[in-house]
Amino acid sequence: MTEPVARPLARLRDVELTRLRRVGAKRGEELASLGLHSVLDLLAYYPRTYLDTTRRADLDELAVGDQVAVMGEVRRVSARRTRQGRALVQMVIDDGSGSLEVVYFNQPWRERQLSVGSQVLLFGTVGDYRGTRQMTNPVTDVLVGADPAESKRRVGRLVPVYPTSERLSLSSWEIGELVEESLRRAGPMEDPWPAWVRQDHGLLGRTEAMWAIHAPRDRQERQAARERLAFDELLRLQLALALRRRHVEQAGHGVAHRADPRVADGGPRSRDGASLVAQLLERQPFTPTSAQRRVLAEILADLAAPVPMHRLLQGDVGSGKTLVATAALAAAVDGGYQAALMVPTEILAEQHLASLRRDLGDLVRPDTSTLEGRRTIDVRLLSGRLGAAARRATLADLAAGRVDVVVGTHALLGEHVEFSHLGVVVIDEQHRFGVDQRAVLRDKAWGSRAGVVDPDLLVMTATPIPRTAALALFGDLDRSIIDEMPAGRVPITTEWATTTEGADEAWRRVRNEVAAGRRAYVVCPLVEQTGHVEAAGAVAEFERLSAGELAGLTLGLAHGQMPAAQRDEVMADFRSGRVQVLVATVVVEVGVDVPDATVIVIEDAWRFGLAQLHQLRGRVGRSSQPSWCYLLGEAPSSDAQRRLEALVASTDGFALAEVDLDLRGEGAVLGSRQRGRSDLRLASLVDDGDLVQRANEVARALVATGEADGDSVREELALLGEDVDYLFKS
Ligand code: ADP
Ligand code: MG
Repeated sequence: MTEPVARPLARLRDVELTRLRRVGAKRGEELASLGLHSVLDLLAYYPRTYLDTTRRADLDELAVGDQVAVMGEVRRVSARRTRQGRALVQMVIDDGSGSLEVVYFNQPWRERQLSVGSQVLLFGTVGDYRGTRQMTNPVTDVLVGADPAESKRRVGRLVPVYPTSERLSLSSWEIGELVEESLRRAGPMEDPWPAWVRQDHGLLGRTEAMWAIHAPRDRQERQAARERLAFDELLRLQLALALRRRHVEQAGHGVAHRADPRVADGGPRSRDGASLVAQLLERQPFTPTSAQRRVLAEILADLAAPVPMHRLLQGDVGSGKTLVATAALAAAVDGGYQAALMVPTEILAEQHLASLRRDLGDLVRPDTSTLEGRRTIDVRLLSGRLGAAARRATLADLAAGRVDVVVGTHALLGEHVEFSHLGVVVIDEQHRFGVDQRAVLRDKAWGSRAGVVDPDLLVMTATPIPRTAALALFGDLDRSIIDEMPAGRVPITTEWATTTEGADEAWRRVRNEVAAGRRAYVVCPLVEQTGHVEAAGAVAEFERLSAGELAGLTLGLAHGQMPAAQRDEVMADFRSGRVQVLVATVVVEVGVDVPDATVIVIEDAWRFGLAQLHQLRGRVGRSSQPSWCYLLGEAPSSDAQRRLEALVASTDGFALAEVDLDLRGEGAVLGSRQRGRSDLRLASLVDDGDLVQRANEVARALVATGEADGDSVREELALLGEDVDYLFKS
């Protein structure tokens, strides 16, 4: 007999579940309602937990406190409500040696699921209720149609328990049978990695792992299966990133920018005058921190090299990323290229426009330095608020190469946006964008007049991403970190006030600081009203404070639903000091930089996430003046309490990110958009740091040796879904 041919796992995606013997149209529909369409879907529907039937006991030998599996026939089922109104289903089972009473609270559907005469397998703790042994809410598996002998076959090992729902007539037991049929019919599965990967990392073969995750003999085997399959998930992700990176390096024709990393440390002057970057640094009112200089040197070295830069710049709120970004933009212009800066909000776009014009707008473009042609750097805005005519003009100038630096919101991604010779792209507050948007902007450079060029890409974020998560999401990016705050910063004092006296102190602080010539933010949460989000909270609070606690001060109001021009005016007035207190919604969450603001009062603080609170707090503490952050309101839940306590206890973004990860899990922390492209079912970025690291190393090795290329691992990468399409673009 010849060995059956091993087939790639991805092929099973084409085999519909209705091809299984026991799946007809009706079951097919039910399975589809769980999102299960193909045999692959079913095989990746991993058990939620396992019943340990290796410790099965006869009913007559049960003692109170035992944690065991028991099996028996259902003798009686009844349902009623408790006096508190909770649904209560009672059952008695019998296994020949004795009987046991079982109760389920809040699971009314059990009455339909459990019928007299069927066999059940239960796992739980034996309790005592008024002198009778009883199990409460045990993990339950109904062995439908199985004769007792067949059922015994299952006993003595770990029985998988699949997620079921009350809409489902299929029991976990039946799903298990379908899985087994699928596994048998799927036959051996191709192992996509070279043998050394399995050997070096002590991994089970894929076929073995698939069987063992669904029907493990013991805990050890289940653990080994989980490790192998989790490793596969992470390795796919890392391979996609490593291949993407290689794709950029090889297919792309990068620009060797006119950049010199030595400028970051004050040298050298070129023969024909100082470079734009040198001029930029020279005119700053402060000396860059050593972290800023180090990071700038890394970036300038990347820019000078012909390989396109692909770099993530991390730095906590207020660490001074803008200067570094501005230098990267200036380096592009220095060599006659265009540069783009993309930001997540209109307010931030306006702010960067102003600071770029201030820092670069009067510098002369080196390629126009002959007397008659002298031109200064043209910095423009492209955002949703531009009128049609202004927008058309800007687009035309961009395409014709008359604009040197453009700053904008996601409007930059628009279909009609064309560049003439885009050389550098910077994305600020990258966590606010989807992962693939950075690729869109980069691709804008293709087909521009300068020919096929891959611009250098710098993405910046203040969101401290824990190391393993960063590796999983940005494994394709080099990383630079600004790990130092500008000198002279005083740590922000954070107070959580739950009482009226506490709030009074906050308002007193606002009045004092304003009296001393400084400014304050008051942030109000957005109010959600059936489907749409209202800024009503801020509007009402603006009126209340103007007449009450802050009467006599000049207050301004900024929220997302007011006309952009009006909001700009308020922001400008706040910056200049004409407005002393800005009452705002989260429109000021990221990036806003008004160094004279020294107090921020956050109302109903519990409504904000931890990362958001840290960002909001970062609006103050941007100068050498002491600053305060007041969190108002009680915490209605223990999670909210932990968030607010963590914020009071620490100003370190990384420490807070760890707390956040702990509280919310990775999906929530990374944002669904960021996580969307991953197919992580078993692997966890929180708990599998070591596996992430190993997968990253293996992926890099496979790509470097050519053992993995887009074609050879195509089937495997197909398991990631559409998100890897770009790998196969010609
Ligand atoms: P972020 O990293 O949050 O984007 P910014 O770039 O907005 O931070 O910088 C925060 C503030 O610190 C700005 O007002 C900026 O001008 C100032 N700043 C940046 N670098 C330095 C420095 N080396 N010394 C003093 N102030 C600095
Ligand atoms: Mg910033």
